[in-house]
Amino acid sequence: MKKKTIRDIDWQGKRALVRVDFNVPLDDQRQITDDTRIRAALPTIQYLLDHGASVVLLSHLGRPKNKVVDALRLDPVARRLSELLGRPVKKIDVTTGPEAEAAAQALQPGEVLLLENTRFDPREEANDESMARELARLGDIFVNDAFGAAHRAHASTEGVARFLPAVAGLLMEQELEYIGGAIEHPQRPFVTVIGGAKISDKIGVIDNLLGKVDALLIGGGMANTFLLAQGYRVGDSLVEPESVDTARALLRQAEERGVKLLLPVDVVIADAFDNNANKRVVAVDQVPDGWRILDIGPETIRRFSDEIKRAKTVIWNGPMGVFELPAFAEGTRAIAQALAEADAVTIVGGGDSVAAVEQMGLAERMTHISTGGGASLELLEGKELPGVAALQDA
Ligand code: ADP
Ligand code: MG
Repeated sequence: MKKKTIRDIDWQGKRALVRVDFNVPLDDQRQITDDTRIRAALPTIQYLLDHGASVVLLSHLGRPKNKVVDALRLDPVARRLSELLGRPVKKIDVTTGPEAEAAAQALQPGEVLLLENTRFDPREEANDESMARELARLGDIFVNDAFGAAHRAHASTEGVARFLPAVAGLLMEQELEYIGGAIEHPQRPFVTVIGGAKISDKIGVIDNLLGKVDALLIGGGMANTFLLAQGYRVGDSLVEPESVDTARALLRQAEERGVKLLLPVDVVIADAFDNNANKRVVAVDQVPDGWRILDIGPETIRRFSDEIKRAKTVIWNGPMGVFELPAFAEGTRAIAQALAEADAVTIVGGGDSVAAVEQMGLAERMTHISTGGGASLELLEGKELPGVAALQDA
């Protein structure tokens, strides 16, 4: 269902209460080490200011566990946002209540206020109605631009939307259009590449996508459990014995549906989980005891890349190997390169996959890089996100 967006509203003289995802990484000096998420919210904030609104911003940061944690106050975020917007950003130390209401009411069109970390309030994650009502007093219209938090039904994402007209911000709209669009009406061939550590994290995704894709390429640690299900020995590789039956069922389903499912045919193995370990490339039926699979091999890279290069839509979630160790990053790098070169809509989701693509300097060459790991996974599972469901239909 398409949702209303900020472009459907006349903002002149209105106060926008905007949930953003400013959950940025901080170092121990409380310096922001990556401001991608702040930058991602700028188009929405700028649009609102340009159209005569005042803007009240709401975000969580980190995991303060329902209490005030000084190290997780949003002051560094306010400073960076102010630099990026080139205008003052007022920051207050409360999220709701009389002080917040007074500050919100004092705002003039074109002014920006940032409230304190929503997760300092124990009512946030409980999606408590009293907090949602208090938040609703801070704006005329609620805007949800926090895609990265949209899979959570919290007071500032879902609850508040019941008490104000609620629309999507531009980042939210873009994420839904790219990821939702790719799943619902992909240009074909539609290829999905799934990797990462654990099959149990992504069973829902594989299950949902099996019914939609032309080819499913599986690498990374999770491929080991599929190899085990096919009867191969995988030595000391990361496996999930409790998921072997599930892996077998998914393989059977793929076959019944005529979906091309590709697993590694060769792998990079090592005798320790260490960048300087001894390593070799072997066929998947040649993994000796005491060795572990840490990356996909060159023949697998070639086969996966061929599929990707023929595709018109590619979704990628999960690294192909332990890319944090340079000795085992080649599979992930090569797949990122194949996406970068593909003449296709290319979408990358998942925190580690996005980090890998950025580390490799290929982010610019993807069609869309998702800002929400958990939220993008739930979209790929075919779920409706509570923070999206609560918005007005277009
Ligand atoms: P994403 O965040 O992109 O969704 P995941 O969190 O599912 O990805 O998985 C990323 C992790 O998977 C990385 O830390 C990586 O080291 C690990 N991984 C990938 N391949 C293997 C492997 N063969 N053995 C062990 N860990 C692996
Ligand atoms: Mg991850």
